[in-house]
Amino acid sequence: MRKRIVILGAGESGVGSAILAQKNGADVFVSDFGEIKSNYKQKLDNHKILWEEKKHTEGLILDADEIIKSPGIPEKVHIVKAALEKGIPVISEIEYASRYTNAFKICITGSNGKTTTTMLIYHILKSAGLNVGLAGNVGKSWAQQVAEENFDYYVIELSSFQLDGMINFKAEIAILMNVTPDHLDRYDGMQGYTNSKFRILQNQTNKDFFIYCADDVVTKTEVAKRKIEANKLPFSLKESYSEGAHIENETIKIKYQSNELIMSIHDLALKGQHNTYNSMAAGIAAQVLKIRKDNIRESLSNFQGVEHRLEPVLKVHGIEFINDSKATNVNSTWYALESVSNNLIWIAGGIDKGNDYSILEELVRKKVKAIICLGKDNAKIHNAFGHIVETIIDVQSASEAVKTAYYLARKDDSVLLSPACASFDLFDNYEDRGNQFKKAVREL
Ligand code: ADP
Repeated sequence: MRKRIVILGAGESGVGSAILAQKNGADVFVSDFGEIKSNYKQKLDNHKILWEEKKHTEGLILDADEIIKSPGIPEKVHIVKAALEKGIPVISEIEYASRYTNAFKICITGSNGKTTTTMLIYHILKSAGLNVGLAGNVGKSWAQQVAEENFDYYVIELSSFQLDGMINFKAEIAILMNVTPDHLDRYDGMQGYTNSKFRILQNQTNKDFFIYCADDVVTKTEVAKRKIEANKLPFSLKESYSEGAHIENETIKIKYQSNELIMSIHDLALKGQHNTYNSMAAGIAAQVLKIRKDNIRESLSNFQGVEHRLEPVLKVHGIEFINDSKATNVNSTWYALESVSNNLIWIAGGIDKGNDYSILEELVRKKVKAIICLGKDNAKIHNAFGHIVETIIDVQSASEAVKTAYYLARKDDSVLLSPACASFDLFDNYEDRGNQFKKAVREL
């Protein structure tokens, strides 16, 4: 009998999974509790895949042999609970797609730096001439690429939600950037979230690789506790290891087997401490893949950066505007504040995912002249910084934020949008927030 596969959530990953399942001859049904975007409906129709929106019809869902759930849908929603109670396996797009490809997988997870590191590795591999695809949280659905393309390598960005739905998946190279508090609204505390991130190691053998940040306290503690089969390749700004990456006299050294790549940190395209970590992680992966050192160095120095991540927008009358809209948690904002110069007007706020602002205090005291709160409810920011920063102003739109910042700033100051919060109170998503910010800057 044909296997019945039901897909919950008709976004990029859901529609891609449906296309792959259809190609595999399954009886496919897609169900989305919200409204499905018209381009996705079109795609499903083109492939003659049945779908429903604005509801979950239990009779059509709970007869599935397997359910592929979008990472955006929490496990605690009714339909997922009902499926699990019936013993129906609920997996992720990534788990499903991995059954149908033999490509080599380089997978990146962490609380921050995933997209940047993913794009950087993709850039290195592609520039070196490898037949490589980009997937996961970025770009096109992996499942759809598995259905339609024939790549030898994939660079895949994995969120903890995707990792939660993975069982037999294995990354040949697993990269963990860091583990700092995020999404605590969806996990039972920090250990639950950490365990989820460490699923990136599942099924790895001694032929595989684990690249991680040895300066990250949670990661380091967890690595010491676990029995890890893969070859461990740490990166660090503080210590050196027999293999992996470290810094000596402003020079990055990346060692793998008898190969050592050396490069000045001043030649790296991406600036700031956090980006040095990202470059080191990418460099190690490239060394493992035996890409020529010249190629690696060149790619690390000519990478263009990723939109909305500490993206320089414009200088207006000597005031620099920086768009870091993707900073949706306190840790990424810490790195943003760390990497910019003093005399800063900081635009922050939005939907707080249980933020503890105290780690920002020292940097704010040192660098921030004024805070502009861009959110519906800014009470927590006022409480956290009211005694440190004299000027804290509430605004309700990106253009108001930019105008206020411009009014407060003097020549040689910087204006940094690095919200430490999600964007959904006032914007569609972080891209929308960043784009509105950039538009407002250009209109000054
Ligand atoms: P992710 O995909 O994990 O959200 P991004 O690469 O999109 O990560 O970067 C998100 C934010 O985190 C950006 O604002 C950036 O400035 C900051 N960031 C980037 N890399 C790191 C890192 N290694 N550690 C901490 N923060 C980082």
